[in-house]
Amino acid sequence: GSLSNGSCKSLFKMPEIKFTKLFINGEFVDSVSGKTFETIDPRTGEAIARIAEGDKEDVDLAVKAARQAFDHGPWPRFSGAERRGIMLKFADLIEEHAEVLAVLEALDAGKLHSWAKMGDIPGAANTLRYYAGAADKIHGEVLKMSRALQGYTLREPIGVVGHIIPWNFPTTMFFMKVSPALAAGCTMIVKPAEQTPLIALYFAHLAKLAGVPDGVLNVVPGFGPTAGAAIASHMDIDKVSFTGSTDVGRQVMQAAATSNLKPVSLELGGKSPLLIFDDVDVNTAADMALLGILFNKEGIYDEFEKKLVEKAKAWVVGDPFDPAVRQGPQVDKKQFDRILSYIEHGKREGATLLTGGKPIGKKGYYIEPTIFTNVTEDMLIAKNEIFGPVMALMKFKTVEEAIKSANNTRYGLAAGIMTKDLNVANTVSRSIRAGIIWINCYFAFDSDCPYGGYKMSGFGRDCGLESLHNYLQVKSVVTPIFNSPW
Ligand code: ADP
Repeated sequence: GSLSNGSCKSLFKMPEIKFTKLFINGEFVDSVSGKTFETIDPRTGEAIARIAEGDKEDVDLAVKAARQAFDHGPWPRFSGAERRGIMLKFADLIEEHAEVLAVLEALDAGKLHSWAKMGDIPGAANTLRYYAGAADKIHGEVLKMSRALQGYTLREPIGVVGHIIPWNFPTTMFFMKVSPALAAGCTMIVKPAEQTPLIALYFAHLAKLAGVPDGVLNVVPGFGPTAGAAIASHMDIDKVSFTGSTDVGRQVMQAAATSNLKPVSLELGGKSPLLIFDDVDVNTAADMALLGILFNKEGIYDEFEKKLVEKAKAWVVGDPFDPAVRQGPQVDKKQFDRILSYIEHGKREGATLLTGGKPIGKKGYYIEPTIFTNVTEDMLIAKNEIFGPVMALMKFKTVEEAIKSANNTRYGLAAGIMTKDLNVANTVSRSIRAGIIWINCYFAFDSDCPYGGYKMSGFGRDCGLESLHNYLQVKSVVTPIFNSPW
């Protein structure tokens, strides 16, 4: 990897940062404490803006607004078609504001601007539209009970929801959680990650423009142990949806249990293996194998390794606004240091560093695409989620061995298989304990495709109609029926 030399070809102008305060009850407000924190441009390590820092008192205010909006406001009482109309308007506004949104995503999270523009932002509008289409199709069932009883079920919104989201997909995560909750008729508090608060605040502004009533969608940026913990332990929040690390997920579930027993859904860490069999085109396989942990069938191992190193070396690292760049900076100093420390572990534990391994440049959080080979299952780089441009390569001989290795992790978020053999693909798909299996692709998502973990990758699903049920609960209504012969 080489750092593009800053001669950025894109016409990037630092946008005016309009929204830096908490969004509570339809207004942008300062935090109760008056405190602020910096959000950092990962290209330089310098501050982009100061953001109001939410804490427990601010979460309390947001919950009060959401509670009021749920208990007395129009949103849960609207027909599904009414909610659908407002959500469709929200989606249109995202498209109208796509330019600035893509800039914010790239600026705050270091994501490639072109990807944000072609992927994350239009994807957000799609997700909203998907769930807008579901809003008027939520219904219960009629139950023919005993001869003397008849019943039906109602699907009701679960109430006030707390969404706690990470920095890795600030836009996608926001809409994966907010859209089904809106469709269900819930009201909510979103806590974006402290690294990436900007775009969530912009979405709050668009929600208001679209006509989402005050108090329905509140955004409270802040830190995990303060604002995040206040959401998890709040007595008046009815459900928490969390995406983040397994350790914090455990704390969130504990806080939910010891407070008001609110249900939680947790989308946690992963270590998603990609199994590459020896009947595939090495070039295509190397293209697919962006990040993660790779298991290679022995037959093509050497050739594959060579191809991968070639591609990694040609990989342009640099300013996410430069269209030639394939990999931007890591999101912040903490993540940057964490990745470098994993790389040191890898070397110390005896893995062979094929390429990369070092930071690039003196400014910002850039790291070379890094590939280790001769990795064994007990090494940290094989076991822990790294969330960086670090690949670990392992060899396998048989299908059984590949399955065993892929399952030898406490995680179960995702896995990929590359092969032309349909039987191998199907066998491996059934055998791997993970929430999504990609065959001859990797990292492919859509609004209608449920996503979430097995094992310590959590439980509950985002996306699909599956996730609508996170935000609904079932009420049974029973009535006697007299003198029925049936
Ligand atoms: P990552 O490793 O991806 O940063 P984290 O689990 O640390 O994942 O963070 C994900 C989200 O959880 C962020 O919004 C963060 O602020 C929040 N968070 C961190 N600690 C806590 C906590 N103790 N309680 C609730 N939320 C938290």
